[in-house]
Amino acid sequence: MTGRLFLVPAATAVSRHTRFVLYLDRGLALRFDDPRAFGRVWLIADPAEVISTLGPDALELDYHQFVQRLAGHRRQIKPLLLDQSVIAGLGNIYVDESLFRAGLHPLRTAATLTDEERRRLYGAVHAVLEQAVRCKGANIAGVFEAGNFPVAVYGRTGLPCDVCGSPIVKQKVGQRGTHLCLRCQPVG
Ligand SMILES: [Zn+2]
Repeated sequence: MTGRLFLVPAATAVSRHTRFVLYLDRGLALRFDDPRAFGRVWLIADPAEVISTLGPDALELDYHQFVQRLAGHRRQIKPLLLDQSVIAGLGNIYVDESLFRAGLHPLRTAATLTDEERRRLYGAVHAVLEQAVRCKGANIAGVFEAGNFPVAVYGRTGLPCDVCGSPIVKQKVGQRGTHLCLRCQPVG
């Protein structure tokens, strides 16, 4: 969910957010830093023990497969996209950013999306994730402080929407803080 991996010289001092250090050959160490302590580390013989519960990677789905993964769900689109057993790879930040770019309210249900809306969502998910990978993530204080992904809504409560100037609002959707522009993302 959060956290970063660092390959560092083994003698590097740990930070206060270091949760795990794996000492490697040649004086190196793989360090896992996770300010929010939501991450997990497993020691297992077969990766399938952990990843077999995950759905397909969002970036590996074509449009037809994406539609199939969402089909038949009456759930709200935001919790559905966050469900890693449906589609893997989208966390809270990138779901909010994808729904904003697609112009979809997070409380819409998957079953009510038109084909055109599903195409917009598919395009937005891909564009957001590809950009996030290029940018090495976003830089959100206390959440993930690393990259330079340009967030449009996440963590921008009260600031003007880049598209229409309306203030970004924050609501709870499925227990998760959710950022959106009510003008760009109408309820329907
Ligand atoms: Zn807007």
